[in-house]
Amino acid sequence: VATLYVVATPIGNVCDISLRALHVLALADAVACEDTRNTAQLMTRYGLSKPLIAAHEHNEREVAEKLVARLQAGERIALVSDAGTPAISDPGARIVDAVRAAGLRVMPLPGASAAVTALSASGLLNERFYFVGFLPAKAGQRDAALQAVRGVAATLVLYEAPHRIGDTTAALVAAFEPQRQIVFARELTKLFEEIHRCPLSEAIAWLAADPHRQKGEFVLLVEGAPSAVDADQVEAERVLRILLAECP
Ligand code: SAM
Repeated sequence: VATLYVVATPIGNVCDISLRALHVLALADAVACEDTRNTAQLMTRYGLSKPLIAAHEHNEREVAEKLVARLQAGERIALVSDAGTPAISDPGARIVDAVRAAGLRVMPLPGASAAVTALSASGLLNERFYFVGFLPAKAGQRDAALQAVRGVAATLVLYEAPHRIGDTTAALVAAFEPQRQIVFARELTKLFEEIHRCPLSEAIAWLAADPHRQKGEFVLLVEGAPSAVDADQVEAERVLRILLAECP
């Protein structure tokens, strides 16, 4: 039956593809993908060959119309991005929106996403998280975006490219309290995977200590602001300590 399958693919280790994803890629009439060379490589790795349709951020709207027409003709189409889950800091949302608006079926196939992968190995205890994704490239807009999330009482999840990791780390250090924890989750699932956690006050020194630490793909996690309840508790304990000291 005509369906758009939204298929998560690996974020590094090619073995992180699900059996169901391989099954759907094998049965699809065509695969819509961000970069045809990239997806062709993944398909070849698993002995698959399908017509590939380029669907990137510059043509997503037009492609969405074409895909809707193909689905209406009864085809089964898989949608993938270069890595991880489509529509998460990647193209795909416009296509899904158009397909849903046309009343056609959309079926997600879960799999890797860098954000959740980093969170799972961070050991940060706050169960809540706030997905920031990529910060704006311009310094003024970036700093404003950080100020806007300064009070969020949830772990902040950021994506970053290697050429900006130093600047972004410096901006985080400037924006947040120095005792908040930061996690650098680098090259997840790949050969040089590294997951380092430290207070923000130590972040710049850690990054500078070894040039390799600034290479590859990053997820950055920043411990959230203390929640209002925690802040009240801290204040209550502070007052209690003063009162107790005054008691005879
Ligand atoms: N759709 C993807 C997902 O579900 O995570 C995200 C795609 S986004 C264009 C690419 C960014 O995701 C990178 O700049 C990096 O911040 C993060 N990322 C992707 N793969 C990663 C990996 N193996 N290790 C660390 N971060 C990764």
